[in-house]
Order: sequence, then C-alpha cells, then structure tokens
Amino acid sequence: MAGKLKISLAWQMMIGLALGVIVGAIVDSQFAQTYLQPLGTLFIRLIRMVVVPLVIATIIAGAAGISDTSKLGRVAGKVLLVYAVTTAIAVAIGLLFANLIQPGLGLDLSTDGLVAKAVKAPSLTDTLLNIVPINPMEAMANGSMLQIIFFAVIFGFGLASLGERGKPVLRFFELVGDVMIRVTGYVMMYAPIGVFGLIAFTVAKHGLSVLLPLFSLILTSFLATVVLVFLILIPMVAVIGKTNPVKFLKGIFEPWLVAFTTCSSAAALPANLSAARKLGATRSIASFSIPLGNTINMNGTAVYMGVCAIFAAEVFGIHLTLTDQLTVVLMGVLAAIGTAGVPGAGLIMTTVVFTQVGIPLEAVALIAGIDRILDMIRTSINVVGDVASAVVVTSLEGDLNSEPYQEGEA
Ligand code: ASP
Repeated sequence: MAGKLKISLAWQMMIGLALGVIVGAIVDSQFAQTYLQPLGTLFIRLIRMVVVPLVIATIIAGAAGISDTSKLGRVAGKVLLVYAVTTAIAVAIGLLFANLIQPGLGLDLSTDGLVAKAVKAPSLTDTLLNIVPINPMEAMANGSMLQIIFFAVIFGFGLASLGERGKPVLRFFELVGDVMIRVTGYVMMYAPIGVFGLIAFTVAKHGLSVLLPLFSLILTSFLATVVLVFLILIPMVAVIGKTNPVKFLKGIFEPWLVAFTTCSSAAALPANLSAARKLGATRSIASFSIPLGNTINMNGTAVYMGVCAIFAAEVFGIHLTLTDQLTVVLMGVLAAIGTAGVPGAGLIMTTVVFTQVGIPLEAVALIAGIDRILDMIRTSINVVGDVASAVVVTSLEGDLNSEPYQEGEA
C-alpha cells in the first residue's frame, strides 16, 4: 500500500523546485544565503565527492570492456566525431538565433562597478598538452577531469591488451563503478532538499524582476537549444540511433531534470549513465562515452557561447564579421570542451571566446546576473547531448539493445 504512494525521485525534485521558487520569492536574500544556500551546497559537495572515482572506474571498465582493441579505436573515433560535429552545430545555431533575434539591441545596462576576471585564451598547443597529466594522482586529487579521463582511457587500453590476465582488474573497476552508483543513489535521496535550497537561494538573490531586462537573452538561448534538441539531436537519435523520439524524451527526463535543477552535468552523470543504458546503449559504450561526454561534450554550453558572443557584441556596439563569427564557432567549441561540469563554469569560459573577437570582458559581468537561469538551460542540454551520442554510436556499431539494462548496474 505504502509502496503505491511512493513519489518518484524526479517528482520529488520537481516539488523541491516549485517550493524553492515559492519560498525564494518570500524570504529575503540574507536569510536565503544563511539558511537555504547551505542545503544546496551540501548536495553539490556530495555529488562532487562521487564523481572522480565514478569517472575513473567507469571509463577504465568501459575502455577495457571493449576487448577487441580495433573496436575500441573505432568506437572512440565515432564518439569524438559525434561530439565535435554536434558541438560545432550547437555554436552555429546559437549564433544564428542571436543574429535573428538580436537580444542585445536596445539594452542599456550599466556595468559600472562590475568587474570580470579574465581567463586568458589558452593556445591550442597548451590546451592539448594540458590534457596529459604529469602525475595521475595529482590530477585525481585536483579533480582535473580531462587529465583523469586521458589517464583512464590509456589505462583501459593497457588493461584490454592483457586479455584474460587483465580480467580480475577489469572486474575490480566494474565493481567500483557499481559501488559508486549505489553511493550516488544514497546521495540522490537528498536531492529534493538540495534542489529546494539551490532554487530558493537563486530566486531570493536575483528576484524575478532582475531577470526581466535580460529576458530576451534567456529567450534566445532557450529557443536555440529547443531547435538544437528537436531539429538536430532528436532526428539524429531517430534516424541514426533508430530510437523512437518519445521513448528518448521519456528516457532522458531524469538526468535532464537533475541537470536543470543543479546546473551541474557532473551531478547528472549517474542518472545519465543509466538513461543511456535504458535507451539501449551497451554497457561498455555507455561507460566509455557518457563520462567522457560529461566533461567534453557540452552542446548546451556551445549554444550559449554563440548566443552570448552576439549579445555582448550588440550591447557594446561591436560588429562581428563573418570571419569573427567563424572564430566564435572554433573558440566556442574549444571553450565548451574546456568547460567543467559544475555550475557557472561556462560563464568563465565565455572570456575565451570574447577575448578572441575583441569583446570587452565587462560583458561577462553583465551576463553574470542571470547566468543561473542560462546555466539551467545549457546544463540540461549538455547531458541530453551525451545520451543522444551514446545511443547513436551504439546503433552505428549495430549493438543497440544487445545488452538489456539491469537495475543497479553501473
Ligand atoms: N554548468 C554547466 C554544466 O555543468 C557548465 C557550464 O557552466 O556551461 O554542464
């Protein structure tokens, strides 16, 4: 009887979200900061505690689980290709919509007193060199995801090459992944309260009125992501991934909601892993591509880069030539790849794009006021892109639904 009354986690989180909006609108920001924000911070910390061991274990097991090394290379190539293509399309859609809607026109917002910290655009060589950790343990201690992933993939390759002899170690990492999924399950029981705290604080701090002047930017960002999802990702999943769009939308609901409310793709990683598996991705492709995509495949953030570049250029009266816009696409892709899956990371990375095309960094401070809302939109699409890619690559390998999902697996 009691079992029937059980409300699913996704609904509990929706309720947390709704209560957060109501309470955030009632309480003042000082109260929210003192009493409600810590509830959200606790949730983010718990999630971040899980991510490093989870990523290491799943990527090693995923890479090593594809025992045929030529298949591993092929799968990795396809995954990276799908990521690169969808990310570039995403920035282009962002640019297109911002050019059409012109969200920055007519805005006259003072940026006095707001100072943005610049992030120097790293050279391509440095970006690539930085992927290789000098000390893998240090990378783990610092949570440097790209370095961790690089090491885990290489380790997985090495493990796969040992064949039968490597099986105990492979099994070990598979089990560590399973344990971390369990631990995440415990953490997620707290999610509704964490979501309540995060949302109440955001609403209390920014208030709904602060959002109005920048509504156009939010709308542009929202429309561009809707187009990306419904005209690019879903058709890709339907045609190449041979998956019914309604089934896909149902399947991604939970990770989408976790990402939307927490603004952290990393927080949605566990839910995303099971969503990809339930939608028919094989265990090895899901555990290889989802944690990798969680860090480098940021379709929503890529849209945001394009939209923000045009918005900021308009606000500051800068004309972006076609070459500038192509530069935005290239830098947008690199910036999205370099964005960590934590709240607000994309905002910092916009400076990489802005610097490259001569947009003043005050623009970052301008966007910062509403970034939480933009972050909700982009983060939720970041995770959808990862599941779409996992399904598409599994289908390209001819392995769709070949390994049914089992409750509790990694
Ligand atoms: N919050 C985003 C994420 O976790 C990253 C970003 O800020 O763009 O995916």
